Amino acid sequence: MEDDIRELYQEVILDHGKNPRNFRHPEDATSEANGNNPLCGDKLTVFVKVGACQNIEDAAFEGRGCAISVASASMMTDIVIGKKISEVDALFGIFHKMCKGEEVGETPEKFEDDIEKLMVLSGVKQFPMRVKCATLAWHTINAAVHGEHTVSSDNQ
Ligand code: ZN
Repeated sequence: MEDDIRELYQEVILDHGKNPRNFRHPEDATSEANGNNPLCGDKLTVFVKVGACQNIEDAAFEGRGCAISVASASMMTDIVIGKKISEVDALFGIFHKMCKGEEVGETPEKFEDDIEKLMVLSGVKQFPMRVKCATLAWHTINAAVHGEHTVSSDNQ
């Protein structure tokens, strides 16, 4: 493992990377999308089950990638289940800024716990190449819930 990358790895990332949550293909998924980060070789498929009220009833993923991309997908699926699509969009916006080291500004109180969890991944801001690993799952679920089917980190 490269030294600069090692700093980035914290216990929680390693844990999610090794034992990803929601790593499965739900039979009743209403949509899915593929995410591809060719720079690192991360390839994920994200499945979502969207309920009648535009809420995420289930989210899961399959695929392979580096520990950061898998850990991020694992944490993301945990966080989005039970949320409305609009809330997922808002969280993605916040998380993207965190990863790029941009000012996040005022965040809704209801996201406090989620943002705290996502904080461990925001260390990628020091490693621009890794931002794509950390955000791939979010780009992919965004594509799934908004009806696109493939995203590539090339145009992020
Ligand atoms: Zn990666």
